[in-house]
Amino acid sequence: MDSLSRIAVVEDDPEISRMMVSYMTDHGFEVTPARNGRDLDRLMSGGKIDCVILDVGLPGEDGLSICRRLRGKSTVPIIMVTGRGTETDRIVGLELGADDYLPKPFNPRELVARVRAVMRRSAAADQPQASAPQTLLFEGWRLDMARRQLFAPDGTPRSLTSGEFNILSIFCQNPRKVLSRDDLLDLLHGRAAAVFDRSIDVQISRLRRKIETNLKDPTFIKTVRYGGYFFTPLVTLMADS
Ligand code: CA
Repeated sequence: MDSLSRIAVVEDDPEISRMMVSYMTDHGFEVTPARNGRDLDRLMSGGKIDCVILDVGLPGEDGLSICRRLRGKSTVPIIMVTGRGTETDRIVGLELGADDYLPKPFNPRELVARVRAVMRRSAAADQPQASAPQTLLFEGWRLDMARRQLFAPDGTPRSLTSGEFNILSIFCQNPRKVLSRDDLLDLLHGRAAAVFDRSIDVQISRLRRKIETNLKDPTFIKTVRYGGYFFTPLVTLMADS
């Protein structure tokens, strides 16, 4: 890293805020605290912020609303910090586009690890190769990456949830390779990873229902030993039309 990464910490509890700021500063980040959404807006318009750590429980505009607003205008990595017993907040936060979440109370070391991870992913996503959307073909099926749509061999569209689409596109980009659950999570770039972690098998079984003809003996997505999956088709790139 050529310069210090700039982190905004949005937290109204002064003690927690101080703890985060000092720990992260010690670990080589340039950290600026903000007490609420307005502070954060000021910070964001004042210069580049590389990562936002956002508490959900804030007086006034809450973290979820700030997250939604931020996503409307920026791709800055966001880590939500949620109170205990607020499972819904976590899921809503991820759906609103947060990159990760951390439940309170947390170990500051964990926070630093998460920040580094989301920033790594965001740097990787900025690489130009990730930008060109393509259409991928397998066994007559067509996966349109730009429109995020799947078409059956007879040309009819099959609706996929965003989770199902993400998994299928990972399979299509990594065909004929054994992918463990961990591999799948890594390849999903950690976005909503916490949700997928618990439901990856569920997502895959739903996906199978949409593309396999015989669920008892799936031909596209095979389960392999020790919790892995294998996408059997040969995948080709459709030439631009
Ligand atoms: Ca709070």
